Amino acid sequence: MKNIVLFGPPGAGKGTQAKKIVEKYGFVHLSTGDMFRNELKNNTPVGQKAKAYMDKGELVPDSVILEMVENFIKNNMNDKGFIFDGFPRTLPQAEGLDEIITRHDTAINGMIEIFVNDEEIINRITKRAEIEGREDDKNVEVIENRINVYNREKDSVKEYYQKQNKYYKIDGIGTIDEIFERLCNIIDTI
Ligand code: AMP
Repeated sequence: MKNIVLFGPPGAGKGTQAKKIVEKYGFVHLSTGDMFRNELKNNTPVGQKAKAYMDKGELVPDSVILEMVENFIKNNMNDKGFIFDGFPRTLPQAEGLDEIITRHDTAINGMIEIFVNDEEIINRITKRAEIEGREDDKNVEVIENRINVYNREKDSVKEYYQKQNKYYKIDGIGTIDEIFERLCNIIDTI
């Protein structure tokens, strides 16, 4: 099994790349953002709890996330592995993920940061708002808050993986295929 964490600010292209990675490697895709949007659409208690945070661009509390992730992993165990997209986003989430994944007799092979600067991110999210119509992409203040939250938590998550020699970084500017190739070069060797 190979388990990979895709890390990067909102709009870095994690979701797009995760889908391509799933096609090539057969991993199971775990996106906490997609999970919350789904819960919200179905108006579940988790969705109702998450809504207030998502609307403001704040992070949903770690306890809510970890329980949801644990259930997902339990129900989607497979031979190939998982690609984690938008999770973990905080140090307690990274620690929690290790606990969960160890309980399932496997480990994280690497965390790959897709690096994109803040200015480019704002441009991309504004464009995505026109195409996908995501509520949290439409408001500039919410977008800025999501970037600030990411920048606030980023170093602690990065250091957690650096200490384990599991941190990798790629340039997130380029075509979808160029970025995919950069990711595959790392995934193939870890
Ligand atoms: P995303 O599509 O990954 O940007 O997620 C959309 C929103 O869902 C975020 O702005 C958060 O409010 C919430 N969310 C998604 N993943 C997480 C996470 N790992 N930890 C906390 N909140 C999250």
